[in-house]
Amino acid sequence: MQRFFCVFALCLALPAIAQHGNNNAPEVDNWIVIHAGQLLDIPGEAPRNQQSIIIRGEQIVRVENGFTDPDSLAEEHVELIDLSDQFVLPGLIDAHDHITARPGRVKRIWDTTASDSMRALYGAHYAKQTLEAGFTSVRNIGSIGESIYALRDAIKLGLIPGPRLQTSGNYLSVTGGHGDRATGFRWDLIEPLEHDGICDGADECRKAVRKLIRKGSDWIKVMATGGVNSEAQTGIGQHFTDAELTAIVDTAHSLGRKVAAHAHAAGGVNAALRAGVDSIEHGAFIDDESIRLFKQTGTSLVATLSVGDHVLQIANDPDSGMSEGVRIKAREAIPTMMDNVGRAYRAGVTIVFGTDSGEPEHGRNADEFLFLVQVGMSEMDAIKAATVNAAELMGVADSVGSIEAGKAADIIAVANNPLDDISALQQVGFVMQAGRVYKSIQQ
Ligand SMILES: [Zn+2]
Repeated sequence: MQRFFCVFALCLALPAIAQHGNNNAPEVDNWIVIHAGQLLDIPGEAPRNQQSIIIRGEQIVRVENGFTDPDSLAEEHVELIDLSDQFVLPGLIDAHDHITARPGRVKRIWDTTASDSMRALYGAHYAKQTLEAGFTSVRNIGSIGESIYALRDAIKLGLIPGPRLQTSGNYLSVTGGHGDRATGFRWDLIEPLEHDGICDGADECRKAVRKLIRKGSDWIKVMATGGVNSEAQTGIGQHFTDAELTAIVDTAHSLGRKVAAHAHAAGGVNAALRAGVDSIEHGAFIDDESIRLFKQTGTSLVATLSVGDHVLQIANDPDSGMSEGVRIKAREAIPTMMDNVGRAYRAGVTIVFGTDSGEPEHGRNADEFLFLVQVGMSEMDAIKAATVNAAELMGVADSVGSIEAGKAADIIAVANNPLDDISALQQVGFVMQAGRVYKSIQQ
């Protein structure tokens, strides 16, 4: 009897857990018809007037001309969402985010006092803000501790709202480099502040990549050069050697992971491109050779102009507390980065949308669109950067990035046509992710 009882109890417990894990997911047979006044279903192609999106559960079934009568589907219950006075487009993607990072000028104090649990809770708060801003997918490249993995998995389970997350976990940095957060602290504090992405020499770097993947990293982020907004007095030139970069990329690729390289100075950008990284982040000082390599390899440039503007504002505020060394770097690097992103775009380099949110405020990711247009991108190409291009880089183009049959129902709407005025995307009024509405138009 005892054995039967245990088996029976287990049988009862399992469905209860499964149900709890998916309590936010829509019913699989739930049908929705969206009437879209204007629809940009595939960024890069012209938008069309008066279209209907037919959704079943989490997926798009089809897109139809005209406004489909929900009754014509002959299904038991069909919900109609009226966006007939809205401009509808795919959920946006931010390919450079730090969603567990708290913005502000007390970063070093936050970094050294916030527990992993607190970071997870802040991350949940920022994830909701980001989703409500219309960003239904995010690539998170760089975080402290392990909270980001739990955040990613909790969102995937439907426990909390947030963008679909891909994450690198910690970033790789040379000792004393841009990603070594122990730099500048008292010597006896260095060891506790070191993290598992610090590596020197090809063997250590291979090991670091493998350990991050063992923890659950989807991406590897490498600080290929120094950085602008860090106190490390180590310039913005190449940090990892060519041999280390090659070891990092080959190891990651052999285990099925892509590599994102933070890189500023042309020598470091070009070394990372030659080593075979999948994206260059920032790329402030790219040169003609960089552009040639970008085009030859098909590597994407994740522009992150939002963080440039943010850092420059702090540099120009005499009371900000920013050190003179960082101010000098910022005033030189940021205007150059603006010029160079425009130059790369005109030369045909694939630009992918990224903000570095966590430095700038969360939920203001769409500000990046204004900067991209400011440096010369067309509105359509700026939207492509945050949809089809980002989905391609993240290897998820079969499920997100456009509104097409078989893809996830990640759909947003704005009141005005962003192809006329890109700032429309700063006021996203409707957000659906996987067929579930997270923000609806206030009538
Ligand atoms: Zn970043």
